[in-house]
Amino acid sequence: LIVLDQVNKRYGDLHVLRNVSLSVRQGEVVVIIGPSGAGKSTLCRAINRLETIDSGTITVDGTPLPAEGRALAKLRAEVGMVFQSFNLFAHKTVLDNVVLGQVHVLKRSRDAAVAKARELLDRVGIGGQAAKFPAQLSGGQQQRVAIARALAMDPKVILFDEPTSALDPEMVNEVLEVMTSLAREGMTMVVVTHEMGFARRAADRVVFMADGEIVEENTPGDFFGAPNSERAQSFLAKIL
Ligand code: ATP
Ligand code: MG
Repeated sequence: LIVLDQVNKRYGDLHVLRNVSLSVRQGEVVVIIGPSGAGKSTLCRAINRLETIDSGTITVDGTPLPAEGRALAKLRAEVGMVFQSFNLFAHKTVLDNVVLGQVHVLKRSRDAAVAKARELLDRVGIGGQAAKFPAQLSGGQQQRVAIARALAMDPKVILFDEPTSALDPEMVNEVLEVMTSLAREGMTMVVVTHEMGFARRAADRVVFMADGEIVEENTPGDFFGAPNSERAQSFLAKIL
């Protein structure tokens, strides 16, 4: 579904993605882990074309990423993204946060969009909060709105960039539970996270990145049980 081939990205002298090749199949859950500055966020942003790349190719469903215009808006709908910082529209209600993209990008009727939004808000456990504004919700609730908003676009894949890192510890699980159930239902997901429990439980594949490179790709069992590379071993020793 997503294929990156020999992708390179530099910020000035800093080579942040080095010959990154990765494919994500339909229905697969790929967890990306690695130290700070490894290029994990840059990789996610490149797939959604929030960043350009310097060389290599990225295709989604066989189509190279469009540069602009309606095709780019369509790509962003197909490739949902959930950020650490929620990125909700602060001056819109929870319901509108989930409705507006459907109306503007997918051209759904407001009634159809509202019905879909209510169903998704129920599914992520916050159906009762629809009329509130984001600031009136806890971090965990806001992140579940962000997930509902991504789902409302009927995405082919959702990219999650450290979706629980900004949350108080007691709210982490409610978000991970929603993500785990999406994974079980067959959603294609790319998840950057430091939540190793989630990686073990939900990942089909773990990708370990360091210094802009994919150092290792493995099943979670093998990755956590017997990592191949020294860099992965020392990373795991620090965090587990
Ligand atoms: P973290 O775990 O801290 O989120 P990361 O793996 O997501 O790290 P990236 O955010 O992708 O890492 O950053 C990779 C490198 O690129 C870092 O050294 C970072 O400082 C640098 N970088 C990221 N964005 C920019 C930018 N817009 N301009 C210049 N350098 C940048
Ligand atoms: Mg990051």
